[in-house]
Amino acid sequence: MDDFSTFCLPNPNLEEVTAEYATLQQELELALANPDVSDETLRAVVSKWDGVRRRIESWSNLVEIRFNQETNDPDYKAAQDYRDEISPKLTELNVGIQKMLVETPLRPRLEAIFGAHAFKLWEVQNSTFDPCIHDDLVQESKLVSRYNELTAAAKIEFQGEEFNLSSISKFEEHADRDVRYGASRAMWQWYAANRAELDQIYGELVSIRHGIAQKLGYDSFIELAYRRMSRTDYDADDVARYREEVREHVVPLCREIHRTQEETLNLEDLMFWDEGLFDSAGNPAPLGTHEAQIEMAQRMFNDMNVELGQFFQLMCEKNLLDLKIRPWKAGGGFCSSLPNEELPFIFANFNGSKGDVEVFTHEMGHAFQCYSSFDGAALLEHVWPTYEACEIHSMSLEFLTWPHMEMFFGDAAERFRRIHLLTSILFLPYGVAVDHYQHAIFAEPDATPERRHAIWQEMERLYLPDTNYGDLPHVSTGGRWQQKRHIYMSPFYYIDYTLAQCCALQFWVRSEREFATAMQDYVDLCKRGGTMPFSGLVDSAGLKNPFKPGSLKDVVQQAREYLKL
Ligand code: ZN
Repeated sequence: MDDFSTFCLPNPNLEEVTAEYATLQQELELALANPDVSDETLRAVVSKWDGVRRRIESWSNLVEIRFNQETNDPDYKAAQDYRDEISPKLTELNVGIQKMLVETPLRPRLEAIFGAHAFKLWEVQNSTFDPCIHDDLVQESKLVSRYNELTAAAKIEFQGEEFNLSSISKFEEHADRDVRYGASRAMWQWYAANRAELDQIYGELVSIRHGIAQKLGYDSFIELAYRRMSRTDYDADDVARYREEVREHVVPLCREIHRTQEETLNLEDLMFWDEGLFDSAGNPAPLGTHEAQIEMAQRMFNDMNVELGQFFQLMCEKNLLDLKIRPWKAGGGFCSSLPNEELPFIFANFNGSKGDVEVFTHEMGHAFQCYSSFDGAALLEHVWPTYEACEIHSMSLEFLTWPHMEMFFGDAAERFRRIHLLTSILFLPYGVAVDHYQHAIFAEPDATPERRHAIWQEMERLYLPDTNYGDLPHVSTGGRWQQKRHIYMSPFYYIDYTLAQCCALQFWVRSEREFATAMQDYVDLCKRGGTMPFSGLVDSAGLKNPFKPGSLKDVVQQAREYLKL
């Protein structure tokens, strides 16, 4: 593939794919039934399946990217609909092969060839599905869509203009306190007006998820949720210990940060609507034109690491970046990949704020890891690791690019770094509160809506003791959790960001002491991709495992020094 902008792939024909899988299944059956089968044959037959998966995944990801690039194009929309329609069938075909690989008596030999991790992943993934829950899954995804549609359709009037839930958030950093308060009030008023419906959707989601878990033989949804997240190496007790670590070491630091914010902003009491502002000058914005920024990025990556520099050049040459905002382009930012072509792709919406630089370095971390892992990956599973590990690569690169921020922010670079560090630290208690909340909810699946709001307030007392909501509607009575999309849409996902942040902050500490070795450790970690579970990857990079006591102590100490607290 020379140029992504003109690259296309034909839709696969489901009948042909099904026939192809039937052949694969026969060949695999034959190989596994033969006691004298050679390693070469086993490798060849599994690799053949992997090749088919890569080909189809390249198509599927390309369809999704194209639709996001031009949401008004009817052909892209039709391809996207076809993709959604056939994707459950494709999953079923792959699960069929995965089951054979997991259940065969030859599994130890296969593990010796391909590594044991992929087999554990398949075992865990296969245990989250049974045909008897098919209708419940359909129901679950309908409820998720209802939450998505309800929140996407929100219209908020403020200062004579109309906003949605994401565009109204820009006022969080407004220098005028009355504007911050007014925007915050208008937004939470929307949640207050929709509280009953949001309660209703979540109540139904909790009961359907609890029901699915029971049908599959689990006591509660918690264990099933961990399996859905492909967690093979830690459980709810480990996560509970990590949250305790955050409460002990990070919450006190956050209280000090809040007091400093009060002083800097010259406020008697820091209120909820003041929390997004760190100094009266407001957030710094990046300098230069888009083209100049791309050139600066190339210089920055060349300087950081040879491989990283070459990789960015390749991304530019092959047009694997779509960064500019334009009409009909979907919102947000993400990194995707074409596994058959062994290339990543970055999608973003630059809007001239400091977020452009943060999103860019974040997604470049994902892309570089993905690209580095293709080399030698015998299975698709070896490319992307599990979610919490993926976010280490992205969040760490945000910190590793710090020394070059003068290029993008000039005199305001130091303020940019300070705000980045502050928001990273302040995120941790909120992140673990969202996680703890969901554990508490699924331990009590029959709770009333009132009880659920009270449980959230218990979390706030534990992790966010200084947050003062004043007279704001909704949040002052325990409703803040309803804003967190992951609680509705991706249950138990949120802790992943905090685990990765704990690791990324360790890369920051190291890079401040010894940049070159930190950078090399980072590159090596990227190359390991998904060959190991989270804990294995963390150990391999010499990082402290977040589940072990003391994992955050060093980081908090270093942050205190940096922030002069
Ligand atoms: Zn990410």
